[in-house]
Amino acid sequence: MARRRIIAGNWKMNMTPSQAVELCATLKDLVNNDAEDVVYCVPAIDIVPVAEAIKGTNVKLGAENFYIEDKGAFTGEISAPMLKEAGVEYIIIGHSERRDIFGENDILINAKVKKAFAAGLKPILCCGESLALRKAGTYKEWIARQIKWDLTDVTADQVKELVIAYEPIWAIGTGETATADQAQEVCKMIREVIADMYDAATAEAVRIQYGGSMNAGNAAELLSKEDIDGGLIGGAALKPDFGQIVNA
Ligand code: PEP
Repeated sequence: MARRRIIAGNWKMNMTPSQAVELCATLKDLVNNDAEDVVYCVPAIDIVPVAEAIKGTNVKLGAENFYIEDKGAFTGEISAPMLKEAGVEYIIIGHSERRDIFGENDILINAKVKKAFAAGLKPILCCGESLALRKAGTYKEWIARQIKWDLTDVTADQVKELVIAYEPIWAIGTGETATADQAQEVCKMIREVIADMYDAATAEAVRIQYGGSMNAGNAAELLSKEDIDGGLIGGAALKPDFGQIVNA
């Protein structure tokens, strides 16, 4: 079964609302590719203007964060129903910056995955190892454990709609990319973990991205690998280079 490629930009804490609209205009013709899913995951304040700016294009809207409750006394947070009503389709969960800087653990990440599905949002679930774990050689066990925790009580039908982003922390924003073989090794292993947890059909359906300093120069090789179904892109998503990645 051919999986549909998904190229998602993670804008992080960049782009004021006016800059966001300008970026959508810059990228509009460059990312026009109906053969794959193109997603902009944008800061909360940019969601409404970006939804307007991408109307009539192939680009889908994503968010970078939310909280698991629908409403209430959670100062500063934004809920899944709020995102849904604003036109958000994809939601990044478990990014290493949320885990490391904001202390999100696998229990919360698992709750977010379940809440996202219940609210009709598609999670982009991030996993990946630190440089220390890569050097120690225990990165595969670490990533398998993250996937098992984060997908506790998530059904096979839901996993078929899930996107998993393998993002080695040592390659995020550092300019150091995992080699295509290193990325393929882990993406293949993640698919095997899904096969063990669920079944072969679910493993075949789940889409797995690579993320970590993907750019216009290295995207084609990474995306040519059998188990790499797309990319989660930080820095290069804010530049015309994103169009080259989409068409790599
Ligand atoms: C990311 O943070 O998801 C990411 C992959 O960033 P960069 O492309 O800048 O390494």
